[in-house]
Amino acid sequence: MSDKRIPRVDLPEGTRLDTLAVREGLPASPWGENSEALFLTSSFRQPDAATAAARFANEEEAFIYSRFTNPTVMMFERRLAALEGAPACIATSSGMSAILLLGMGLLKAGDHVVCSQSVFGSTIMLFGREFAKFGVETSFVSQTDVAQWRAAIRPNTKLLFAESPTNPLTEVCDIAALSAIAKQAGAWLAVDNCFCSPALQRPMEYGADLVIHSGTKYLDGQGRVIAGAICASEALVDERFMPVMRSAGMSLSPFNAWVVLKGLETLAIRMEAQSRRALELARWLEAQPQVERVYYPGLESHPQHALAMAQQSGCGGAVVSFIVRGAAEGGAAQARQNAFHVIDHTRVCSITANLGDTKTTITHPASTSHGRLSEEQRQAAGITQGMIRVAVGLEDVRDLQADLQRGLSTLSML
Ligand SMILES: *Cc1c(COP(=O)(O)O)cnc(C)c1O
Repeated sequence: MSDKRIPRVDLPEGTRLDTLAVREGLPASPWGENSEALFLTSSFRQPDAATAAARFANEEEAFIYSRFTNPTVMMFERRLAALEGAPACIATSSGMSAILLLGMGLLKAGDHVVCSQSVFGSTIMLFGREFAKFGVETSFVSQTDVAQWRAAIRPNTKLLFAESPTNPLTEVCDIAALSAIAKQAGAWLAVDNCFCSPALQRPMEYGADLVIHSGTKYLDGQGRVIAGAICASEALVDERFMPVMRSAGMSLSPFNAWVVLKGLETLAIRMEAQSRRALELARWLEAQPQVERVYYPGLESHPQHALAMAQQSGCGGAVVSFIVRGAAEGGAAQARQNAFHVIDHTRVCSITANLGDTKTTITHPASTSHGRLSEEQRQAAGITQGMIRVAVGLEDVRDLQADLQRGLSTLSML
């Protein structure tokens, strides 16, 4: 790219994160709008044929066609990059298409990937099945056992892929340790930062090369749109991802970009408030006799509590999972029936697999988000039939407790 670049917002040197979250982007248009404009246009007029040629040849950075360049999308990219402490960002139509773009941009037939076995269900399908069709092999390893990651490295390993904390078990991986392994192997480390968002965790500070986002979750924060992004170096974005975006078009629509861009303005206060409620709910769940186990990084009982607190700005995030009793008494079928009972007795929580909404959502992972996995894969991922995941929103936590109490206190077999 030449030095003819699209200008930045004029902000003082050293502007801090909370300020960047509401200010970073592009300068206002000639009309001086205070809220960022939504540019709904598929293409952009060029001043003359020679300028158009220079712009199409990448000699001058300019807006051309919204499959790969749009001002609203760029504002979102710049703002998210700033929050992640990343040099650059490329927005995608969904979180999954961000991972698709990651694979298409970085990998080729014969390459090998090491991936946590506890990542998002569709991510396992994408690496394990779809990329395998194109000759990219993936080894799935323990989320928390660093030795397994090291042992899985091969001469052709190009990418390590992790997510922390994971869905729904909230297992935390040591990003700095994985980064050291990746660097030694000459491979990239990509971290899906969906659960913490940059408000709580910035994987690049721990050595990650790439950060993946589902903007659908906390970045939007209000359950409105599907969106995604990759944060990375300028070289990776310009040379690896932009050409694929231009050819393959997993583009984020300007409207969705605008929604998520505005969501970023309140990200930090939402994450703080939702994490606080999640901790309160997790502590309460731990005290319930009908609950066998609670998974939440903010609890002292969490196996990676200390690591999580260090890596996640002292916050556990807003996702709490727990296992309803029943398996010991009546096996997996009873556990599933009990979990369904608790879910079906809620009146405030939304029964939906989405997360990161201001509205608390409740789901049964084994039959929804992880329903496409084989029982063996599910066991490996630790998703049992008694498990319920709650993604805590902004309601009064006492109403959420009462909502879960309704089902828990009427479990007939306990
Ligand atoms: C939801 C999710 C994704 C996929 O994002 P979409 O926007 O739904 O495509 C990827 N990773 C994690 C951790 C998620 O929770």
